[in-house]
Amino acid sequence: MKVFINPGHDPRFDSGAVNPISGLRECDVALSIGEILRDLLIENNHQVYLLQSDNLIGENSALPCVVETANAWKADVFISLHCNAANQNAHGTETLVYKYDSLAEQLARPIQENIISVLGTDDRGIKERPQLIVLNSTLMPAVLIELAFIDQEDDEQLLINCQDKFAQAIYQGISQFSL
Ligand SMILES: [Zn+2]
Repeated sequence: MKVFINPGHDPRFDSGAVNPISGLRECDVALSIGEILRDLLIENNHQVYLLQSDNLIGENSALPCVVETANAWKADVFISLHCNAANQNAHGTETLVYKYDSLAEQLARPIQENIISVLGTDDRGIKERPQLIVLNSTLMPAVLIELAFIDQEDDEQLLINCQDKFAQAIYQGISQFSL
């Protein structure tokens, strides 16, 4: 299977959410987990294209375009990795899809379930987010995983210390989808 991994944001231009106490950046966590996931997939004979770029759909032509690259590469699935942030209390995992009752939801479900069971994060469910570019402009089943809350203490510890487990859970979810 051809798996496109898009770690959210861009270390050079857009950190994404930042933990106000530790300074941990969403862009760095997403890239790190994305790279572990990439290695797992390659070890298991999948093809992987990993791209983190501040250009989602052509808004910055100096950078490679995430949506165009995924579509041109003809990825089978598109996985975007993000961390949530709110009020330093909210916590848990959610997975976003363009719409319910879709292949994207079939991909999202085992990923979400595996993360909840392996990491023990709060299950915030699968949510429709049709306005998100990476979900509405990609031509293949696409999910955006909000792994956990980077500004909440317990979730942050998981994001720092359990990156392998996040990657493994996502890998298992992708494997279950492709069966
Ligand atoms: Zn994000």
